[in-house]
Amino acid sequence: MCPMDSLYPETPLAELAWLNPRELKALQAAELNCVRDVLLRIPRRYEDRRRSGADIASLASGETVCLRVHVYAAAWRFSYKRYFEVSAGAEGDPHGARLSLRWFNMPYVAKLLAVGMNLYIYGKVREFAGKLTMTNPDFEVMEDEDAGHRLMVAAMGGPRMPAAELSSGGETVHTGRIVPVYRNISGMAARSYRSLVWRILEQLSPEVRPAGYDVAPTYPYRQALLDVHFPAEDELQRKARLRFALEECFLCQFRVAWRRKRSQGHPGQVTATCDAYMHELLEHLPFRLTEAQLRCVQEIRADMEAPRQMNRLLQGDVGSGKTLVALCAMLLAVGSGKTAALLAPTQILAEQHYRNFCRLLEHTDVSLSLRTSGRADDSDLSLEAGFAADSTPRIIVGTHALLYPGNRPSNLGLAVVDEQHKFGVEQRESFYAAGENPDVLVMTATPIPRTLTLTLYGDLDVSVIDELPADRGEIITAMRRPGNMKKIISFMREQLAEGRQIYIVSPLVEESEKSSRASAVSELSRWQEIFPQENIGLLHGRLSPEEKDAVMSAFHANETHILVATTVVEVGVDVPNATIMLINNADSFGLSQLHQLRGRIGRGRHKSYCILLSEAKPGEPGHDKLMVMCRTLNGFEIAEEDFRLRGPGDVLGTAQSGLGAVRFPEWLADMRLIHRATRDAAAILERDPELCLPQHAPLRDLVRFEAESRVTS
Ligand code: ADP
Ligand code: MG
Repeated sequence: MCPMDSLYPETPLAELAWLNPRELKALQAAELNCVRDVLLRIPRRYEDRRRSGADIASLASGETVCLRVHVYAAAWRFSYKRYFEVSAGAEGDPHGARLSLRWFNMPYVAKLLAVGMNLYIYGKVREFAGKLTMTNPDFEVMEDEDAGHRLMVAAMGGPRMPAAELSSGGETVHTGRIVPVYRNISGMAARSYRSLVWRILEQLSPEVRPAGYDVAPTYPYRQALLDVHFPAEDELQRKARLRFALEECFLCQFRVAWRRKRSQGHPGQVTATCDAYMHELLEHLPFRLTEAQLRCVQEIRADMEAPRQMNRLLQGDVGSGKTLVALCAMLLAVGSGKTAALLAPTQILAEQHYRNFCRLLEHTDVSLSLRTSGRADDSDLSLEAGFAADSTPRIIVGTHALLYPGNRPSNLGLAVVDEQHKFGVEQRESFYAAGENPDVLVMTATPIPRTLTLTLYGDLDVSVIDELPADRGEIITAMRRPGNMKKIISFMREQLAEGRQIYIVSPLVEESEKSSRASAVSELSRWQEIFPQENIGLLHGRLSPEEKDAVMSAFHANETHILVATTVVEVGVDVPNATIMLINNADSFGLSQLHQLRGRIGRGRHKSYCILLSEAKPGEPGHDKLMVMCRTLNGFEIAEEDFRLRGPGDVLGTAQSGLGAVRFPEWLADMRLIHRATRDAAAILERDPELCLPQHAPLRDLVRFEAESRVTS
């Protein structure tokens, strides 16, 4: 190892004198700026290039091996293409079996190799015209020869051999060991990048510490880094990953615990002093709340009655009736003289809630308004001037527009965020920072595995509606082959004749604006030919938000009977009369997407049908996925299956987490690790609530940013 143990995680890569400027640029373009960025960029996989004991004579064509060989001859060759050839054999056996190593398009190799050297080579052996050959093998020059060779190259006026090309201390980097394979960096050869990691590890200060908190003090950090990048055994790589996973998990859960402590510390308003409006609503409802809904209302109410700020997540599957629970909470707030706001992610959802509330509250004198940034011209839904300043207790439904500082309603006692995953974490948190500390209720219809709830929403209290209203029509889900289209169409015809409506969804790859519109239009005309009598709406990705709204409104109003959608139908849209959801190439959707799509039907009294068209055969992953859909309607169960089938990293990627980069997704599915990390974090905050102890300084640095961003948001 290099005597110069001088690198620290914070050292900028720009300070590495030996790094060439072109590669530095490539690294910076890939957002790798300091040593830590490189160290925490973990191999995508490993290749076992441990030296094989085989001798050349016994190699078989097709075998991939790592060998130590001696160079007996080296020369340029010209056949159909120019290449550099080395004739290699076992050291000290000049008459033994030979292997021909050939490098095409790699002229620099000729400058690195010379007769008499010993090499490690790694590659696939092929028999070619009776000769055993290896094409473009990865190779490494053994240290013992390097001094002499360097002199020789220099004497020939060739370039100085890049240090990265030499094995050091007899240790090989690219061959003769388990070798890390990293995700590609554009502008930098895989080999150079591996050498860079190696050199950084060599020069890393033995004092390196993990950022924040050492979760495994008995396993030195530097050793873990070595083990994860250049493991001597496969087992070590796994052990190191576990350490890093635990660390990442701890840091994440520590931030969650910190946020939770902060938000729970906020004094709040008492916003549930009178339930008269709520009872009025419940009396006029044509149905009774489910047990789960009642329980959630109680949990929310207890929070609102307490003089601290509520930070609660209401989790419930599509159609479980979250809106009504939220409305109850809002009426409690209005009853106690406060304004309550419902924030929806889109205009159409805001309007749908607004209309819905108007209907539900027509017996009451609760004042209602809609606040969105568009459609100011629509007199029915117009905005009032001076609205933000008006402190009359009321219910306000709106979009993002409500979040702008000048628009924030005054006298706000309760803020409800619908489909909260559509908003950023900062937007959600901007409510906490609001001067009046309103109670905050966020809602999500995206069921996620329980481990993920603890991580993404660990700072919130959670209420779950785990039961659907009893009056729901049944939903039948079936997998069908496209070959059965005739039968399906005649079934669709029956449903249309009974006055029902149909969604047809296709996953279309949007290659270009033109082609995607063209394919959407051709999909539409296909269905117009099949159902010439019906009005068919078309929803595709190139429509403006206003156009999309118009298409959805027409379907909602039963002016169109079939909706052909080439993009996913808006979450939360409620058309109880729609009873068929036909999904083309269903296996190309993710499980949670399929679940969301199916959630568009079964919203009324009628029996509904979700038809999954797919060519997938039993045993294929696509088939397994669709079988899950056929087996259960429970979103949480589907989410757990999704986790299992796709792995936590991919699920998280689509869950829009606001978690930031997760390097070791395995902990996301590991309840034991999460519990352990949560416990450790709580213990630290219990003992040292303001993180004043010197050993907690790194943790304080970690969360200082959180605290600051809170204040400025
Ligand atoms: P989501 O949880 O997906 O937001 P909604 O709140 O939109 O669900 O409710 C879906 C539909 O169910 C609405 O039409 C609503 O009026 C109705 N609903 C809500 N609660 C009940 C209940 N307890 N019994 C019957 N219908 C209900
Ligand atoms: Mg909803």
